[in-house]
Amino acid sequence: MAITDSLVSSGNVYIQELPGFLPGLDCAMLRLDLLHPQVSGNKWYKLKHNISAAQQQGKTMLLSFGGAYSNHLLALAAAAAHYGMSSRGIVRGLYAERALTPVLQQCREYGMQLEFLERQAYDQKTDPGYTAQLSSRYPDAFIIPEGGANAAGRAGAGEIAELVPSVFTHIAVSVGTGTTFIGLRNALPSGQQLLGFVPMKGGRYLEPEIRACLLPGKQVHWSLTDDWHFGGFGKTDPELLSYLHSFEQQYGFRLDKVYTAKMMYGLQRIAGSGGFPSGSRILAIHTGGLGGN
Ligand SMILES: *Cc1c(COP(=O)(O)O)cnc(C)c1O
Repeated sequence: MAITDSLVSSGNVYIQELPGFLPGLDCAMLRLDLLHPQVSGNKWYKLKHNISAAQQQGKTMLLSFGGAYSNHLLALAAAAAHYGMSSRGIVRGLYAERALTPVLQQCREYGMQLEFLERQAYDQKTDPGYTAQLSSRYPDAFIIPEGGANAAGRAGAGEIAELVPSVFTHIAVSVGTGTTFIGLRNALPSGQQLLGFVPMKGGRYLEPEIRACLLPGKQVHWSLTDDWHFGGFGKTDPELLSYLHSFEQQYGFRLDKVYTAKMMYGLQRIAGSGGFPSGSRILAIHTGGLGGN
């Protein structure tokens, strides 16, 4: 099946106004979460060119890496099933095998073969020696790095920029590996500010990695913040959970608690302390991530 027989429909995506979200400023959300229940948000964009490259090379398996809560592995498992390919997920942490998370259960339902590695072994995931060994073990596999973090992933993520109208002055997006952020920064017009919200402690360690992948003309008009991590990656507290709930009550759709809830919370805090010049128009990107819930 050709990749153009897409399993997602970008016709489902729209921009939803968020009246009153940032007092005195226009704010809206790009609803990429509506692409597909499991292959949602940025994950589809990061996978699409990887999958077409795999097909062109005649590969029949998609192989990638992730943690027990990896939206990337879930999207990959669902996409592989759709395109008639097999899939293999290498999962960080032996403990994850004992009690499968809902995400990994769904991966398995899509036919993904799961392999669990202790953390030290998992950390070899990018060693050329290790990936060469994987390729000889699975000659039919097309290997995609964790989070879809390769050039094809960044190029695909750049296509999200086509959905961003030029009237917006600031674009907000959540950051995990930074792949989506890099793709967007390289593709958006330079004048649009790109704000990245990293939901992990000390997340600004990503800055040099991001800078290294940006086109020469795109080194400015972006920033990262890790101020709203709520204790670290995957951590929540009662305040964040009640924030999630009241957002859903007010606007009628859900945010995910790992990424987008922390971003929206942070956006309100930045606006509340006068961080946006008057007249700013802010577009937050809903990168999905609801499939594992
Ligand atoms: C994976 C994910 C991200 C992070 O994307 P990167 O390209 O790795 O930075 C952001 N938001 C959601 C909902 C995700 O699932």
